[in-house]
Amino acid sequence: MKIQRSLPPAASPIYIDDIFHGILGFVHGQAEVERFESELKGYLGVKYCFLFSSGKAALATILESLKVLYPDKDEVIIPAYTCYSVPSAIVRAGLKIRLCDINPDTLDFNYHHLSSFLSSASNHRKENQRTDGEKKDERHPSDRILAVIPTHFFGIASDIEKIRQTLNNRNIMIIEDAAQALGGVWRGKKLGTLGDIGFFSLGRGKAFSTVEGGIVVTDRDDIAGEIEDRLMHLPGYSWIETIRLLLGSIVLCLFLKPILFWLPKGLPFLKLGETFFNPNFKIRKFSPFQAGLAKRWKVKLTRFNQGRLENSEEWRNLIRQLESVEIRSFGSVLSFPPIRFPLRIQDTGIRERILKQSHKKGLGIMPTYPDTVDGIEELKKEFENQILPRGKSIAKEIVTLPTHLFISKKDRRKLALLLSDVLK
Ligand SMILES: *Cc1c(COP(=O)(O)O)cnc(C)c1O
Repeated sequence: MKIQRSLPPAASPIYIDDIFHGILGFVHGQAEVERFESELKGYLGVKYCFLFSSGKAALATILESLKVLYPDKDEVIIPAYTCYSVPSAIVRAGLKIRLCDINPDTLDFNYHHLSSFLSSASNHRKENQRTDGEKKDERHPSDRILAVIPTHFFGIASDIEKIRQTLNNRNIMIIEDAAQALGGVWRGKKLGTLGDIGFFSLGRGKAFSTVEGGIVVTDRDDIAGEIEDRLMHLPGYSWIETIRLLLGSIVLCLFLKPILFWLPKGLPFLKLGETFFNPNFKIRKFSPFQAGLAKRWKVKLTRFNQGRLENSEEWRNLIRQLESVEIRSFGSVLSFPPIRFPLRIQDTGIRERILKQSHKKGLGIMPTYPDTVDGIEELKKEFENQILPRGKSIAKEIVTLPTHLFISKKDRRKLALLLSDVLK
């Protein structure tokens, strides 16, 4: 373990005052959660807002609710390249994952592939006929699709209008994965409020954090009714779990700082930055302690996102100046402050060298999800014949630069030097 200044790949600091507000929130109880909910409703301009223990808990609850509303549908289309929490939530809700390849320039769906799920020429139909023998499923294959989950990754908005056009009035729900996009605006509208229903994450590396947490927003009365029903019957955080949250907030308060981040970074058992497939996560109501932690969320979110915007402007210029054919930024398609600034590096050797150098120097450059969803060990069998070439290549190419407020002028210079050195 090397003791040196180290940048975390993403950071939404929690301050001492936030922890005090958290403890006060715990004392106030449920009123604190209601305050946070109504502030979010006002800010996002939505009719309903519900709070959960995580983004995946929020998504699993959305899916279980939709399943009740549309009992004869059981498939959910997601981008082949996404956070492993998303397939985890779908499996948890007892639904089937369908993978759509992505557009490597925007990380959005490959719309050609998305349309193919809706046409009658789907492979799925043939499978049905083969396996079910006489009991043929006479429905159109797209009738089984419950929802599509467009995702706003790393500052790039998914084109919800285009998805709506592609779905062409079929009764398929659009669930916006805005886990990384709180505070983002697209064509004058807040991200997360463009689909039928949207969710955000308040996890460690997201726009702002309450250690863990998830937000669901919708304007639809029927969906909101189902979700509220579920939320009412969920357990809250136990005493022990609340103390765990308190300790988590203290750890984040101390160890996200670059002067101490070398410690958690050097402890391999923490597995920082790794993404896991695990459908057995806990689903809880958001706690009053977390709502207290979020007391000053608007000020923090504005400040964090402003910093992220400035740093990504800096990185965008840097990449332009490097004029390298090896590194490409998504500069022209970025539309909201990225929690991490994405780059594509096609040359594997150069990419490895950049990651290794950054690790050594503590500059916070990191890979993202290691593979497309069909590469997840537990799911491999279900996707044996799928070809997702663009998602696969993006998983091998992408790295992210940090954009958070802890980055100093000196860090910027060191990072610029690192990139130009490796590219020489
Ligand atoms: C973080 C994230 C999630 C899941 O949120 P958790 O709060 O970690 O469960 C889902 N989708 C995307 C794109 C994310 O980045």
